[in-house]
Amino acid sequence: PVIDVEEIEGVGRVTAQKLREAGYNTARDVAFASVKELAEILGSEDRAKQIIAAAQKLIGLTPFITAYELYEKRRGIRRISTGVKSLDELLGGGIETKAITELVGEFGSGKTQLCHQLSVMVQLPEDKGGLKAKALYVDTENTFRPERIMQMAKYRGLDPQEALKNILYARAYNSDHQMMIIEESKKIIEKENIGLIVIDSLVAHFRSEYPGRENLAERQQKLNHHIAQLLRIADIYNVAVVVTNQVVAQPDVFFGNPLKPAGGNVIAHGATYRVWLRKGKENVRIAKIFDSPYHPEREVTFRITEEGVVD
Ligand code: ADP
Ligand code: MG
Repeated sequence: PVIDVEEIEGVGRVTAQKLREAGYNTARDVAFASVKELAEILGSEDRAKQIIAAAQKLIGLTPFITAYELYEKRRGIRRISTGVKSLDELLGGGIETKAITELVGEFGSGKTQLCHQLSVMVQLPEDKGGLKAKALYVDTENTFRPERIMQMAKYRGLDPQEALKNILYARAYNSDHQMMIIEESKKIIEKENIGLIVIDSLVAHFRSEYPGRENLAERQQKLNHHIAQLLRIADIYNVAVVVTNQVVAQPDVFFGNPLKPAGGNVIAHGATYRVWLRKGKENVRIAKIFDSPYHPEREVTFRITEEGVVD
């Protein structure tokens, strides 16, 4: 947001006028000015220092960023807002490109709704939390609903039909087909300006095609290959990848959570961020990040309404 110079603490109408005449229109301009430059305009070095400090405080400029933030900057990571403040806060600003974000939860916990919403959010301009880009939606369970996209798009100020045109949809009929779609996607990501790839669900086909212990090794090997392929695409093309995962019961757990994400170690190691969703009362849902070195273990709530996924 643009903050006018007059909102800086200690800057009255007269000082603001002097600053504007010298080309300093916003708090940001002043925050990055040198003391010498401003002292010439204001006639005092002390006053210049004081106003620069106030401007820096106003725009939230601090001398330190975390090494992780630096790392992100260097890697050119971009973020897509979920459209939900609490969720964005939990994720450190939204979902990241060059990463796989896994949404895991029981039936009805909101995984598919969030996938729909992100397919809309990615289309928004950057100052509204999007990437002004398209989404590629891989649907394995036939739960994608264009009508739902239209509702969400309308609420976010997008033309509903345009929003639909900016989502490339593929129905995956089995795990091989799913992997082939992702392989093929490489050819269109740049040409179509894809910013987000959704796979809802990542694991369903693999689990139904390779049931039981006797198929476990083969299934995990294939899944591993698929996830490695997704990570590579996310990294090379600077896109966000969002996948959904189911939970399974752990029969041998007597204390703590009896549910665990499906897909075992392969997904645990492959997913960059893991978000656990569960149902609260009525339309309330609860989200928590687990297994992340960068995020605190804390829970936030959001709601699913006619407008989409909201605070
Ligand atoms: P999952 O994919 O985790 O199984 P979903 O994302 O499909 O779960 O979430 C389903 C939930 O979303 C349901 O509880 C349903 O009430 C809610 N929902 C779906 N569409 C709407 C809508 N148009 N208005 C309000 N709630 C909705
Ligand atoms: Mg679903």
